Amino acid sequence: MTYTPALLPRLIEAINDTITNNAEEVTALDQAIGDGDHVINLQRGLIALMAQREELSQLDWATAWQKMGMTLMSTIGGASGSLFGTLFVTMSKSARNQTINQQTVAAIFKAGVEAVKQRGKADTGEKTMLDVLIPVADYLQTAVDVSLPELLDNVPKVAIAGMESTRDMLATKGRASYLEERSLGHIDAGARTSQLMICAIVAVLQHLRQSA
Ligand code: ADP
Ligand code: MG
Repeated sequence: MTYTPALLPRLIEAINDTITNNAEEVTALDQAIGDGDHVINLQRGLIALMAQREELSQLDWATAWQKMGMTLMSTIGGASGSLFGTLFVTMSKSARNQTINQQTVAAIFKAGVEAVKQRGKADTGEKTMLDVLIPVADYLQTAVDVSLPELLDNVPKVAIAGMESTRDMLATKGRASYLEERSLGHIDAGARTSQLMICAIVAVLQHLRQSA
């Protein structure tokens, strides 16, 4: 199965839907240990991507990811804007002149997540989106020889475990770090939205496989 950017409209719509459907819950999470604007920030980016989705579908992956990264950086704002922007811009650089398949995507996503770590000066265990992105990137790297159906079954599990793991972490980066011990017991909003987006992407890919 080859995946081309013709898929992007469906992926962007699925991501937009999952963030809309879970907006109240995520806002409550960001209100508990942040400033409550995470969904609104993300939705500014998603509205912009929704408007660009047909145009994006005509590009190659590297060019599409570059454009998406620039759009996210200039629309989302907050701490998460530059982080999501960095993810896509770096994936774009890493994808130049590459065919996109299970093996190359693992390396491309890993490069993107490494750049987010550097940009945020953060790593696993700090109660951020990275507690979802890093385990998923690591899993993809170890799973280059795993069959696609098995991979698609496992990625959501890894993402959900990462999201859940933030509940008992002490925040040491971002606004939640100002709360110190009071950040304990709450899931990180950016970890939840990253998990929701990853699960939405996987659901689209699973649906495509089943209807192929
Ligand atoms: P802000 O914190 O500026 O209000 P958002 O609410 O949009 O921005 O995003 C907050 C999310 O960004 C957090 O839930 C966390 O997952 C993520 N985040 C914040 N700081 C960092 C960082 N230094 N590294 C990685 N992720 C971070
Ligand atoms: Mg916020």
